[in-house]
Amino acid sequence: MTNQFPVNRPLFDEVMVPNYSPSAVIPVRGKGSRVWDQNDREFVDLAGGIAVTCLGHCHPALTSALQEQGNKIWHLSNVMTNEPALRLAKKLVDATFAEKVFFTNSGAESNEAAFKLARRWALEEYNAEKSQIIAFKQGFHGRTFFTVTVGGQEAYSDGFGPKPGNISHAEYNNLESLKALISDKTCAVVMEPLQGEGGIISPTAEFVKGVRELCDQHNALLIFDEVQTGVGRTGDLFAYIGLGVTPDILTSAKSLGGGFPIGAMLTTTAIAQHLKIGTHGSTYGGNPLACAIAEATLDVVNTPEVLEGVKAKSKLIVDTLNSINAKYSVFSEIRGKGLLIGAALNESYQGKAKDFLNAAMDEGSMVLVAGANVIRFAPSLVISDEDIIEGLARFEKGVAKLAK
Ligand code: PLP
Repeated sequence: MTNQFPVNRPLFDEVMVPNYSPSAVIPVRGKGSRVWDQNDREFVDLAGGIAVTCLGHCHPALTSALQEQGNKIWHLSNVMTNEPALRLAKKLVDATFAEKVFFTNSGAESNEAAFKLARRWALEEYNAEKSQIIAFKQGFHGRTFFTVTVGGQEAYSDGFGPKPGNISHAEYNNLESLKALISDKTCAVVMEPLQGEGGIISPTAEFVKGVRELCDQHNALLIFDEVQTGVGRTGDLFAYIGLGVTPDILTSAKSLGGGFPIGAMLTTTAIAQHLKIGTHGSTYGGNPLACAIAEATLDVVNTPEVLEGVKAKSKLIVDTLNSINAKYSVFSEIRGKGLLIGAALNESYQGKAKDFLNAAMDEGSMVLVAGANVIRFAPSLVISDEDIIEGLARFEKGVAKLAK
């Protein structure tokens, strides 16, 4: 397609709602973990589109699923079901604790469905009083008004008028704080099994086990938001498998489609029955094109080869970040699990994570932040060791420029 007018960063300010502040770099193509911009400048992608492109860019299995389904049928509606959705649901059910699947288009929509289902379940199984949802401070569950209110960051939910009610926030990794809030009036506790946006915070084993026990004591559902941790990111297909604690509802999106928008809510038959015909829906949820690509993604990711590879690649990144830190003393901690890794900046660099992101970008390496103090890495699960080494060598050049 030829452009009739300059298509560049200034055009963003002219025609786009100003809720983002994107980089001046406009990528136009990608292959594996390399990306090229409008000027054919090449970057190593250690960001993965915020934990989305789990098989890199233009993976042959996904491109061929896209083309194959694209030549068959793109969209129907929920008046009909379709083969890719049925196949994907069956594979998700077979691979997890779940017995039923509801498809959406994003993480927020998966969580919205989960919260509505939990409220409905509590109303029908118990009473109208059992409606409290407990989430955790610094948690993130999406940007719809319900999910952003459940998320534990008021900066994101304030300023939009009256919020959905009966939502409380406990402290992550603090069972006493959850104990102080939970009661028989709690319908659900929702947590990320590794807080992503909140700064790459892993839960302790006792905490996750304790949350499950408290939910059981008070007949509350446990919802795991695996939008960021799911589909191989932590080295297990879903993080709950590695933690050994099974939720009642699990939400997925991001990596599920490998870069094509799709989300899913997974649960048991007993709970799912409360979303009866007509109680919830989505025009695009379960779209055949999205499901065909997600099925191909799942087929590749859910193999010992890819999942074991995540653990090995994680070690390479963590070891390299530690050796960068030995030279420049910029990090207080390297943390996270699998290929969701955070490098927390030490006292001398507080609030400067975005500067490190920009410096890395200037050197040809794409990384992320998780809050103002943590640099986040969420690359493709099949990134080559060579790309990791090159991407982090470029990142190091950026660090060298900022280190005092
Ligand atoms: N939940 C978690 C844990 C997330 O990390 C995100 C996005 O960062 C979301 C939900 C929202 O997903 P989406 O942006 O696809 O709505």
